Amino acid sequence: MSNYDVIVLGSGPGGYVAAIRCAQLGLKTAIVERENLGGICLNWGCIPTKALLRSAEILHYAQHASDYGLKIAGAIEADLEAVVKRSRGVAKQLNQGVTHLMKKNKIAVHMGEGTLTGPTSLTVKGEKGEEKLTAKHVIVATGARARDLPFAPADGKKIWTYRTAMTPPEMPKKLLVIGSGAIGIEFASFYNDMGADVTVVEMLDRIVPVEDKDVSAHLEKALTKQGMTIMTGAGVEELKATGKGVTAKIKPKDGKAAEQEFTHCIVAIGIVPNTENIGIDKLADLDRGFIQIDPYGRTKSKGLWAIGDCTPGPWLAHKASHEGVTTAEAIAQELGNKDVHPHPLNRDAIPGCTYCHPQIASVGLTEAKAKEAGYEVKVGMFPFIGKGHRTGRGRGLHQDCVRRQDRRIAGRAYGGRRGHRDDPGLHRRQDAGDHRGRADANRVPAPDHQRIDARERARRLRPSIAHLIQWKGRGHTATFPIRATRRS
Ligand SMILES: Cc1cc2nc3c(=O)[nH]c(=O)nc-3n(C[C@H](O)[C@H](O)[C@H](O)COP(=O)(O)OP(=O)(O)OC[C@H]3O[C@@H](n4cnc5c(N)ncnc54)[C@H](O)[C@@H]3O)c2cc1C
Repeated sequence: MSNYDVIVLGSGPGGYVAAIRCAQLGLKTAIVERENLGGICLNWGCIPTKALLRSAEILHYAQHASDYGLKIAGAIEADLEAVVKRSRGVAKQLNQGVTHLMKKNKIAVHMGEGTLTGPTSLTVKGEKGEEKLTAKHVIVATGARARDLPFAPADGKKIWTYRTAMTPPEMPKKLLVIGSGAIGIEFASFYNDMGADVTVVEMLDRIVPVEDKDVSAHLEKALTKQGMTIMTGAGVEELKATGKGVTAKIKPKDGKAAEQEFTHCIVAIGIVPNTENIGIDKLADLDRGFIQIDPYGRTKSKGLWAIGDCTPGPWLAHKASHEGVTTAEAIAQELGNKDVHPHPLNRDAIPGCTYCHPQIASVGLTEAKAKEAGYEVKVGMFPFIGKGHRTGRGRGLHQDCVRRQDRRIAGRAYGGRRGHRDDPGLHRRQDAGDHRGRADANRVPAPDHQRIDARERARRLRPSIAHLIQWKGRGHTATFPIRATRRS
């Protein structure tokens, strides 16, 4: 039996960052992973999707070179296999980066399926058989997976979740995307740029419904102009895979349900936490499967903590990483370290980005949420007409939602080419929340990989995840993972 100070179950951006921080604080640390180090984000989420989107963006520019006064001779075509191969290569390289980080920080890696046998003990079933591990503290960071449609589970052939959409067996000609959150819209944008005929069906009355309504309207207009069919307030009532493709019965907002044929369908209707078979049911409170925690990640069982996508949202990589650091520091504090100051997540200042084109990005409250929270607000919007002309990719918008009583920014949103990078509010301190001069990882959006090229990415990102930087401000020290965001 191996004994540690801390065991982290799951090695996504929550888990591996927590493990590194624990090791940095001098704790004997182990990490347990059943699939690939780096979790969904590095292997099947943020990173490979952004690599795909980058290829699609370059394709778009090459095809529209003449708009910029450039001549490219010969046909410009997408080679889907090569695009996917590049994306997988990028993911693999990052996965190797995390392996290196584990070694460098002397974190024991146990590959296999972990199951809790108590708050601070677990078994790991791997290729080498079963191991028993114990620790003073255990952090659960098992993440989440795609939610299936109850009446049409993904088959990996014609009905896809994000995993198949990232490694498609063939190029979809006529694609149905169900769900218009960030994941659905990013794939819709990618396949639209690659030449598919894309229809997006959203049950709510607007796309990207967590964003401000003006941002949704801006994006819907732009995507429609690019040739996508967007159906909001619509529902898919039936979905059947046929030999050739899928038949979907779609009920539009005002009208009768009718059958439509597609070659493929991507189901992007949300996520399900990976908490069913890990032995946590009696050890923590769960709400729809998500582990309930205090601001530092504590569950109701002493010594058992949880972070990231298996806890309440938003389900974002930088949020998971921030929680990883907070929980590691809270554990170190409980173990007697007086020099750490765990810094809980400020839920009003978590940026979110959707890397479609045009990109959209926001931080803080939308106008509706600010009003719901009881603020009287004033909303200012600035259309980026000049920038749209300069980049050649249409207009953008910048919107600030300001609290009338103290003129503080409650929320900020941006739509436009490279939106996530150009809005300073997403990168700097927005103003709300922490007044002690400490930096917040949760204000740096992940993954900012629009311009990934394998070598460049290795140069930029590896050192960035390799070093958890000590940032000092007005006498306080906070630690946060520097991601690639800060370099252009
Ligand atoms: C297509 C897609 C695109 C995305 N794009 C972005 C983006 O641009 N920006 C952003 O911020 N977020 C993005 N996300 C979300 C982001 O990937 C997640 O928020 C993030 O990965 C959550 O990190 P985590 O550490 O909580 O869990 P995960 O990354 O899900 O990692 C959990 C790990 O735990 C392992 N595990 C689970 N159960 C066990 C067990 N019993 N034993 C051992 N190991 C186990 C899993 O194998 C997995 O490796 C995207 C997600 C998807 C699917």
